[in-house]
Amino acid sequence: MKETADPPADRAGDYDRPAARFDWEGQIEVRASAAMSCRRALWYAATGHEPAPPDDAALTVMETGRALEPVVLRAMQRAGWEVTPVDSDHPTPVTVQLTPEVTVKGHPDATGTAPLFGEEAVIEVKTRGPSAFKRWQALGAERSHPDSVAQAALYTYGRFGEARDAVLAVMDTAERTWDTEVIPGERVGDALERTRQWLAPLGVHYATHGADAEALPERDFEAGSWRCRSCPFLATCLPGDVEENANAAPEGEEPEVTAEDAREAVAAFVAAREALREPEGAKRQALDTLKAWMRHRGSAKAELANHTVSLVRSTRYAVDHKRLNALLDPEARAEIVTEQISQSVRVT
Ligand code: SF4
Repeated sequence: MKETADPPADRAGDYDRPAARFDWEGQIEVRASAAMSCRRALWYAATGHEPAPPDDAALTVMETGRALEPVVLRAMQRAGWEVTPVDSDHPTPVTVQLTPEVTVKGHPDATGTAPLFGEEAVIEVKTRGPSAFKRWQALGAERSHPDSVAQAALYTYGRFGEARDAVLAVMDTAERTWDTEVIPGERVGDALERTRQWLAPLGVHYATHGADAEALPERDFEAGSWRCRSCPFLATCLPGDVEENANAAPEGEEPEVTAEDAREAVAAFVAAREALREPEGAKRQALDTLKAWMRHRGSAKAELANHTVSLVRSTRYAVDHKRLNALLDPEARAEIVTEQISQSVRVT
């Protein structure tokens, strides 16, 4: 689950760990939930820079995620899963020696087995807003949330010492629906390897420079990226961007629109929608009547009052994303399920 910088006192020992630190054995120890973070941010954490505390809104999101974790696990139990949640007061940490200089530590949310079959697996619980939830279902976790898959892979190796299936259980925070994705063992191994490759240069950096706070690794993300905008070390790493972030102007050469223009546009939209509502309703009712009449006659076309009325049949095709995601690796899926992002405005 997401972690907070301001945890309840009884869990503080677990949750107030920095994302990375140097241990007394000369290793850099990285928190599992931060394993795929920007390596410069991990360096800042390990060398003692203070992260900016999350704001109130971010804290609420984090606390919501944490509070819903047992809810998701209980829902799984009701659906037939055998679930062993972690003891939240005394979680058993797992440690993975990823490279000679890097260890990763953390603890899974739970372990369990799927209904009817399966061996014990790590269960990583996540909560998502509705659009992120749909995106996860369509693309699969390796494409939509690779950090979560890396986390589950680390816990799997730390707990079982081998690659085996891992389970992501995700709840839509708006609809309170939930679903699971099983990442097959082979792909859990791939995720661990990707994490190793990501963190290895950080270990080499430590071996070369020691715990030198001034010897910064390269930035992993571009200024202005969402990673940097939500980074707790933004003010240290890119001081100019903090102010820019606050006054971020819309991109591109958009015409200037005042707040008054926008208010008038909302009023015009609402008036137009109201004007359309009645004729649209009458049209739908008339079409429903004609559909019933055509079906009753059993014909697909009829001439009526100088008009041709047709009963149009259309077929929709659905993709079972869950099965597709289980069958194919993320690279093959990326060629089949593509993502197009467009922007539109909704007025409610
Ligand atoms: S601001 Fe961006 S580049 Fe700098 S440490 Fe944070 S994520 Fe990395």
